[in-house]
Amino acid sequence: MPLGFASARWNNVSSHRRSQWHTFIDQTEVSPLKTVQTIEELRAEIRSARSAGKKIGCVPTMGALHDGHISLVESARQETDFVVVTIFVNPTQFAPHEDLSKYPRPLEDDLRKCADAGVDLVFNPHADTVYPAKDAAYVEVPACSTMLEGAHRPSHFRGVATIVLKLFNMVMPDIAFFGQKDYQQQLLIRHMVDDLNVPVEIRTCPTVRESDGLAMSSRNMYLSDADRQTALALSQALKLAHDACCADGKALVEARQAMLDHLARFPDIKLDYVVIADANTLSEVEHAVPEMVALIAARVGTTRLIDNMLISAAVQT
Ligand code: AMP
Repeated sequence: MPLGFASARWNNVSSHRRSQWHTFIDQTEVSPLKTVQTIEELRAEIRSARSAGKKIGCVPTMGALHDGHISLVESARQETDFVVVTIFVNPTQFAPHEDLSKYPRPLEDDLRKCADAGVDLVFNPHADTVYPAKDAAYVEVPACSTMLEGAHRPSHFRGVATIVLKLFNMVMPDIAFFGQKDYQQQLLIRHMVDDLNVPVEIRTCPTVRESDGLAMSSRNMYLSDADRQTALALSQALKLAHDACCADGKALVEARQAMLDHLARFPDIKLDYVVIADANTLSEVEHAVPEMVALIAARVGTTRLIDNMLISAAVQT
């Protein structure tokens, strides 16, 4: 049976019957996609995949999946034999005033996308499963938690490091896949894995953009039509900086000024930061180093967006 048929029928199943529906799908092997909510079920699936000699890939997400997430799945499928997508809106990385309660949770749609993308297992645990004891332990990665996003979202990276290490301990993947879109996040995870000797390889996959340049993000769905148009200024500004450095050989100060000048034309954009930084340390640089990254965080209307672009001899996606 084609997956699309299974997906269409999935839409018609009320939430209290989903677990039975999963069982039906699993027993008849209509779709290779399985979903589990508990750590015990997850570990049983992982054990069986490992005993079949499979290499495990993990793609951690908060759901509301788009083509950026799916590109991580595609990379995972190329390098590993059993792809686990985790879908968990992690409460500990949201500050009290942030969008935890309104964060989109289109689970049925997400499961259909996972099935279509050839995901083997979705782990979508309840918060109580992930955090049975509130704040009993957490992970701090001071090396890159305090600047940029960390300065504007003080407890954010503690929540990110904690959930990612927990997910690694639950899934025990060989390779985990993250997006360049969240540049500071992937750097933080690399530091954590290196310094805590976590036996997982980290891959960073290029940012997937809409055809007009807007970086795909689950939060883009908050944007009004007008805000979405305004939001294009972020990727345009990054491109200006990239071209100023890579094509025109301009000084970094001029490249950064080009970003600021462009963004200043949009009164509905409130900037948190606009920097050109060392791509390995995220320290702001005034003189060129071999690998740099331009990063912007800004509020467009009520929606906070981040984007970045590598600046080096190699042109970014
Ligand atoms: P999220 O669901 O926003 O936590 O993102 C889950 C993963 O998808 C993270 O590793 C993100 O960096 C990655 N991701 C989000 N948006 C994109 C994008 N536009 N292109 C590539 N990866 C992305």
